[in-house]
Amino acid sequence: MKRTAEFPANVRQLVYARAGGRCELCNSTQVEGIHHRQRRAPSNCVASNALLLCYQCHHGKIHENPSAAYTMGWLVHHWDDYHQVPVWLKLGSIMSRWILLDDGTLDVTPIEEADTGELDPLSDSIGHDQRAEVTSREGRGGR
Ligand SMILES: [Zn+2]
Repeated sequence: MKRTAEFPANVRQLVYARAGGRCELCNSTQVEGIHHRQRRAPSNCVASNALLLCYQCHHGKIHENPSAAYTMGWLVHHWDDYHQVPVWLKLGSIMSRWILLDDGTLDVTPIEEADTGELDPLSDSIGHDQRAEVTSREGRGGR
């Protein structure tokens, strides 16, 4: 039986163009295909509900780690509106948070200052910054 809830060709073009043909989470060129953020349905095969992903991000980062994926906007609950749920994407070298639009473009999401401490909820290396507070006084001794 043929699947009915697939992304149509024009939407696939928009998503591939938006992503530059690369995985939108890690910039890999080995893309697997387009992921539905919200569980696929005939009505949600639009660019704002789509992410172009490599195999590892699709299965490792998202489907093996769904609670984090919902936090990052990579998955969207069926009761939420994916037009309004921000999503963390890797554009260039940094992860940043965006609102996806149906025309294949992105809108910047204003990030409140309070958010900057948790830029990457998946990172477990937060403690490493602590050692930065070294010995600023000793520098004055005139080395
Ligand atoms: Zn990837």
